[in-house]
Amino acid sequence: MLRIGNHLSSSGGYEAMGKTARNLGANTFAFFTRNPRGGKAKAIEEEDVKKFLTLAANEDVAPLVAHAPYTLNPCSADEGLREFARNTFADDLKRMEYTPGNYYNFHPGSHVKQGVDQGIAYITEMLNQVLRPEQTTTVLLETMAGKGSEVGRNFEELRRILDGVKLQEKMGVCLDTCHVWDGGYDIVNDLDGVLEEFDRIIGLERLRAIHLNDSMNGLGSHKDRHAKIGEGQIGLEALVRVVNHPKLRHLPFILETPNDDEGYAREIELMRENYQEST
Ligand code: FE
Ligand code: FE
Ligand code: ZN
Repeated sequence: MLRIGNHLSSSGGYEAMGKTARNLGANTFAFFTRNPRGGKAKAIEEEDVKKFLTLAANEDVAPLVAHAPYTLNPCSADEGLREFARNTFADDLKRMEYTPGNYYNFHPGSHVKQGVDQGIAYITEMLNQVLRPEQTTTVLLETMAGKGSEVGRNFEELRRILDGVKLQEKMGVCLDTCHVWDGGYDIVNDLDGVLEEFDRIIGLERLRAIHLNDSMNGLGSHKDRHAKIGEGQIGLEALVRVVNHPKLRHLPFILETPNDDEGYAREIELMRENYQEST
């Protein structure tokens, strides 16, 4: 069965997200752990989490693919911002343990003129400070479009981050279809080749989630503008091949397309219609 969902607002709490997901036809979902542009997190209500866990178990909603706020930049040149990133990350990992065994996805960061080597050094430094042997959450590095000075613009940069992390078993990767396309990986004409490259450099066993997005821009454009499924330059056919690919079809797919709830419900339905149940 296809695991698909979208990005939900976390303002109503966990149970509300679970209900919304089911109403949209989703069986997995993403959410920001706190305001995507700010820093403050809502207090977790244990009763709400308990209700959510029951709903998730009964209705088979899993996994959660939480997303760190955009303001988190572990490789900022500013020590205060790196400290904010570290504290936020550590706090988010604590919060994630209320819903054990899920995913926490983050953008590696932007090195802003310091160079990619310094960027990677700061990112691995933070990960080594915040990851805990006892955590049940897997942290996902997101593949980036390479806009500006984003780190993680290719598979090699993600490999270098992973290589610097001591608790590597806590780490995975989330592949964003818009980002890799914008980064120059031709998932339209050579999906097999891109996945072979991913496997050779990172290892497909590290791939834990897919952000399923179309792109407003062309291959290698480094722009990062998401489009609705079938309305961008990747196109419906290529995205249908992504969800059906034997190496990917078991993964959770998260839509981050510019839609309202109705649009998401339609895209979820569209992808389900185009998913070949294995016999
Ligand atoms: Fe993201
Ligand atoms: Fe994404
Ligand atoms: Zn994006």
